Amino acid sequence: MMNNETILIDIGPLSCSCTDHLMEEMHKALSEDDDGLFRPHESIYVRQLIEEITGHGANALSGLSTDLTGWLSKRAAGLSIAVPAPEAFVAWSPFKAEAVFKYLAGKAMETWAASDYVLLVDYLVHAYFPTTFPEQVAELAVKQAAVMGKVQAVSESLTAAQAGALLAHFSQGFTGIALDLAHINYSVIDYGMANCCEHVTGFSDSVKYRLKRTILEHEKSVRLEGKQPPHALQTKMFDQFGELNRDWRRLALTEAGEMANQGFVASMPVGKKLKRLEQYVGACPFCKKIDGRIVTIVEPDKKDKNWDTEIWQGKDNVGRSASPYKRVGGQLIKRTKSEMWALPAGLAHPHCRGLWIPVSGPASDDEFTMWLSDHFHPKAAEAIPKEKIEARNE
Ligand SMILES: [Zn+2]
Repeated sequence: MMNNETILIDIGPLSCSCTDHLMEEMHKALSEDDDGLFRPHESIYVRQLIEEITGHGANALSGLSTDLTGWLSKRAAGLSIAVPAPEAFVAWSPFKAEAVFKYLAGKAMETWAASDYVLLVDYLVHAYFPTTFPEQVAELAVKQAAVMGKVQAVSESLTAAQAGALLAHFSQGFTGIALDLAHINYSVIDYGMANCCEHVTGFSDSVKYRLKRTILEHEKSVRLEGKQPPHALQTKMFDQFGELNRDWRRLALTEAGEMANQGFVASMPVGKKLKRLEQYVGACPFCKKIDGRIVTIVEPDKKDKNWDTEIWQGKDNVGRSASPYKRVGGQLIKRTKSEMWALPAGLAHPHCRGLWIPVSGPASDDEFTMWLSDHFHPKAAEAIPKEKIEARNE
């Protein structure tokens, strides 16, 4: 830890766009501290959902880690058999996956080429993060989270048992019906689904990239240079999987937290006042500034919207900056207010834990409320009071 010491960085030789990129990333980094990453989410509405999404990725990573370690540790196993060229398996199907397995299992590992290690990682990542995986995650992190935002909008309180009952109901295929009843603008859902699928695909690509690089660098230094002790690879893999688990947790918190907030805002009528809560350990300077802000819901197409006092469906910080300065020529110039991050409908940045609460009572939607009451098994004794936010530092 640096203890707030001042460090000077010479940005003089950088171009304007490189300077802006550097400052943007530094200010974003200030907002994305990892403190308490695995702490349960503060909102009872999405807490279990986020744990479920976290579990999907953690299980896949755990299976992948076990299998990959197993393969790498039986370096001398198996007989060499007639092997087809790896290029034959570029496009994946169950048949081709089986052929890849036979090929790899049949080749003595001391004869493996670099391309065989690449193929092994492709094969295992394909097995644990199949092409259907992004859509499965988006179903939870977008559709179910948006419905939970609607549930928050129309209810005064929720128990953990009720949240569990809803999740069980969704798992039986009722998400679409709930979403239709919630009347959330479908473009918000559609954009959220596409966005989430891209992020999950990006995650599995990063899994492949990081594992391949780690193995190839290790194998090269062992085979060509005779460096590295035998257990060095296991240690590196352990570190990589630890980092990947943290990346996945950030994704679960971000995707579900974003859509629950968007679903909540979309469910509130125009004119309603909402209060922003950013009351959790590790809130960044920007989020501390917006904590407690009261805003009014307006139509997304209202003219001259006020970014400080108004909120609307889909309001976000795309195209705005976290950095207060930009570089023009050789000088740093202060950005205007309209260029800077403002209070968004969703999250301010990845794995932010911001929430909304209504200033005066829930929204009314009889049809949705009746549907909801049919799927709750309320236990009065467990009811959580109005504020809906549990004490921090659990
Ligand atoms: Zn923040």
